[in-house]
Amino acid sequence: MSFLIVQVYPPGPFFQSLDYLLPNTDSTPPPIGSRVLIPLRNQKIIGIVGGYTEHTQVAPHKLKWVIEVLDFEPIFPAWQRDFLSWLANYYQASLGDVYHMAMPKPIREGKPLILKKKVEIKKNKTKASFELTSFQAEAVNRILSSQDIFQTFLLHGVTGSGKTEVYLQIIETIIKNGQQALVLIPEIGLTPQTLGRFIERFGKGVLSLHSGLTATARTQAWLAAKEGTASIVIGTRSAIFAPFKNLGIIIVDEEHDASFKQQDGIRYSARDAAVVLANMLNIPIILGSATPSLESWFNVQQQKYILLDLPERTQGATLPTWHFIDLRNKNFQEGLSSELLDMIKEHLSQGNQVLIFLNRRGFSPAWLCSSCGYSPKCHQCDTLLTYHTKPAKLSCHYCGHIQKIHYECNKCSGSMQPLGLGTQRIEEALMNYFSNVPIIRIDSDTTSRKNSFEKIIEQINQGGAQILIGTQMVSKGHHFPKVSLVAVVNADSGLYSPDFRATEHLAQMLLQVSGRAGRETTLGQVCVQTYWPDHPLWQILVQKKAYEIFASQALIKRQLAALPPFRFAALLRAEGKTALIAQNFLKDLADSAKAFLIEEVSILGPIPAAQAKRAGYYRSQLLFMSKHRKKLQFFLKKLGLTITTHPQRNTVRWHLDVDPIELE
Ligand code: ADP
Ligand code: ZN
Ligand code: ZN
Repeated sequence: MSFLIVQVYPPGPFFQSLDYLLPNTDSTPPPIGSRVLIPLRNQKIIGIVGGYTEHTQVAPHKLKWVIEVLDFEPIFPAWQRDFLSWLANYYQASLGDVYHMAMPKPIREGKPLILKKKVEIKKNKTKASFELTSFQAEAVNRILSSQDIFQTFLLHGVTGSGKTEVYLQIIETIIKNGQQALVLIPEIGLTPQTLGRFIERFGKGVLSLHSGLTATARTQAWLAAKEGTASIVIGTRSAIFAPFKNLGIIIVDEEHDASFKQQDGIRYSARDAAVVLANMLNIPIILGSATPSLESWFNVQQQKYILLDLPERTQGATLPTWHFIDLRNKNFQEGLSSELLDMIKEHLSQGNQVLIFLNRRGFSPAWLCSSCGYSPKCHQCDTLLTYHTKPAKLSCHYCGHIQKIHYECNKCSGSMQPLGLGTQRIEEALMNYFSNVPIIRIDSDTTSRKNSFEKIIEQINQGGAQILIGTQMVSKGHHFPKVSLVAVVNADSGLYSPDFRATEHLAQMLLQVSGRAGRETTLGQVCVQTYWPDHPLWQILVQKKAYEIFASQALIKRQLAALPPFRFAALLRAEGKTALIAQNFLKDLADSAKAFLIEEVSILGPIPAAQAKRAGYYRSQLLFMSKHRKKLQFFLKKLGLTITTHPQRNTVRWHLDVDPIELE
């Protein structure tokens, strides 16, 4: 019988395609980019056809037949195969794994592609657009003048400056031209509020793609993008894999947000990948933020990105004023100074809402013996357990381990007490001070149940004096028109963190959370409690062009310290059942790497991770840095090959993280 040799990419640690036989019949063979079912290691696996060949290295008696052809048209069009190949290559992953990740589960499992019902964008656009401010108009015109041309725009708009309106009006033109739009937003930002603004403008044809959807809903949205019936797809990072028929623009909102970087499996950055994709498709891309990442800011300085500014809030609203409360030598209880309590009282008495920000859930971050200082730790993670009330428990915020509370010390029988502040504790304290005011706590403990977040938002929007207490969940994107005071209970921890990005994250977080104050007619105030009232960062935040000033200064420091974005970095992380296993594995690899190390790449480590033990594993890391992205990539390829033949590779858990966002 005559046959063809087909090259297939199945999921798994394969650096090349695998060859299989296919009967050479009259019917056309499966196209490149389609699914086939193949036998692999005694299992039936779905792989993607990568090509055909006449010669194979596989011995004839070892060649196996394709079991079934699943598609007669490609799942992945050519442009997407190029994109996914780039992604696999850049993030040091196998192409089969990348294909696997890019498919919704039912498609990955071999289900047929059937779009159940066609969705159409309603043509009657339900809510009228705003008349643009001159800054908005300039941004819209500039971006639209670059249709069908690759260009990255950094839309830097202060909080409440109307960035979303800029997106909406650009998308309007793009879809009028018959093209599609992709809007990527952070995990926390994809709320019914955000989606609602798009649906309000464009009708039900706006589709969302995120992990909260059922597999069927995801598949349907994916297929609608493929057929071109969905004009707008809004989603979290994995929406970057939707197989658009005719994509015309990509928008990455809150581009500085860490959730665009996948933190397990294939550690890609959806923001960075989006820029590459826009380049491949020759279309414009907008990265929007009030507090852009220093990487993007640097790219503006390098004239790779075009900066578009929205320096003012819309509708005459002004940016809030800043107040710093010196906590030194003050008497205060439960973390709230009397100055702050007075301000809260003042704002509530005017019928306004107050938002208290504290990025720590639970009652207190430690449970401490007042006699001997003993404080229980997670036995799996080497971190202190957080004390929670209602129900009372000790819980590990890293691995989820929960432990019963002892009120008497295990070591000395002294009495145990909560130490430090969490949102529950602030809530309790404020209930005592303001017994007649509704208090709403917004953290992952109060919002984990389905629709609970929406209910909370509804209650807030009903207005009236209220106190909102929230973690970083409330810092971004939300529009609470009645909030006039934002209070940051403790900003100092970000000032002395070992992570070199800590100040960047602190500045971003403070400006974002301050942006929740006074977004409409009421004048907003931001109040920050600190033990370091003279810290230079505070002097920057109060200025008119706060983020510009911060970013330029921070970039100078990064340059002096030879840190990203002035260097490209990659981390090899290893976890082992003992500290020595992880450490030795990395040390061995660092030694082997010397054989192919190039001058332009430096190796640092191995050193234990800042949190040296997590979920029962000891963690260690090896850092690679280079001035040149290509040189680092060249080096990482060789390193990857070395790891796959290392005798210990299966006794440790390891992964390579290219452009890691946490460098400790
Ligand atoms: P950002 O995303 O920059 O924080 P938003 O897009 O949420 O800002 O806009 C802030 C508010 O201003 C929203 O209520 C929005 O509807 C309103 N808005 C946006 N553009 C205009 C405009 N041109 N005229 C009047 N109001 C506007
Ligand atoms: Zn004790
Ligand atoms: Zn733990």
